[in-house]
Amino acid sequence: MTGTVATVRGEVAVKDLGATLMHEHLFIRNPELEENYPTGEWDEDVMHAAALARMRALAAAGISTLVDLTVMGLGRSIPRIQRLAAESPVNIVVATGFYTQRDLPTYFSTHSRGGYIDEDPLAEMFIGDIREGIAGTGVKAAIIKVSSDRFGITDDVARVFAAAAAAHQQTGVPIATHSNPHVLGGLDQQARFTELGIDLQHVVIGHSGDTTDITYLRRLLDAGSTVGLDRFGMTITGVDTERVDTLHQLIELGYAEQLVVSHDSSLYSVNMAPTHKDRIMPEWTHLIVSEQVLPELRRRGVSEETIDQIIVGNPARILAGSH
Ligand SMILES: [Zn+2]
Repeated sequence: MTGTVATVRGEVAVKDLGATLMHEHLFIRNPELEENYPTGEWDEDVMHAAALARMRALAAAGISTLVDLTVMGLGRSIPRIQRLAAESPVNIVVATGFYTQRDLPTYFSTHSRGGYIDEDPLAEMFIGDIREGIAGTGVKAAIIKVSSDRFGITDDVARVFAAAAAAHQQTGVPIATHSNPHVLGGLDQQARFTELGIDLQHVVIGHSGDTTDITYLRRLLDAGSTVGLDRFGMTITGVDTERVDTLHQLIELGYAEQLVVSHDSSLYSVNMAPTHKDRIMPEWTHLIVSEQVLPELRRRGVSEETIDQIIVGNPARILAGSH
């Protein structure tokens, strides 16, 4: 595999990415909410130290690269990630895109085709993040994140998908989604991207491991996407033993080249502040894949070659993109 991938510290050869977690977060924030209604749970230095400890634990567990899909809508702040990346033994890849399940902020109504300011800035934002870097930091995004959930592909979500498709077509950078498999949302996402002219091999349908519906998952896979079983440890949306069973089943069915595993975890999320997270899901870290999932696959007789395909080969192929 040739070429390089942009990480926070600069370009890394695709062949050197190593074991990669494809759908993670570090700090999920809402600066406006937190400024006006502080909970006292955020402390910059405490969170930095916790994240650094986490990255060191990940490196010790054999993980080389973490993809942080925290985009606008989830409080992306690149200087905070740069501070972490400067000391982290694990490569960090950051994303462009927009996270919304239904509507964009009002800024995108005044700035829209036919709006007061008759332009849609989304595609330009995404392409700038990939080509020039994010907000003057020089840090380039290497993946595009979109989301849809129980409301389906609303008008605003469709705008994000169209901008993501344009950015992918112009830059070759892959697309990763947040989907809701319980409404068969991945199929709607695939249909939309196909309409937009995107080759689905460059699209990862995220959160697919939250269902055990093999028929649904096979439809996603047969259409050419990679599927993310990317919420290990998130016990409010699924059961890890069932997720491992699903993963094993898909491997046995011959889909190992289209599977990625991850946690969708974070050190801090405004949406579930640490005190709540520690009470509800104390086990949900970024370490379950390396400490539990991969060892369980080995115990079940899955070959090292197949495990390597899922944790190293597939992420490398996806992040290499279509340039
Ligand atoms: Zn996520």
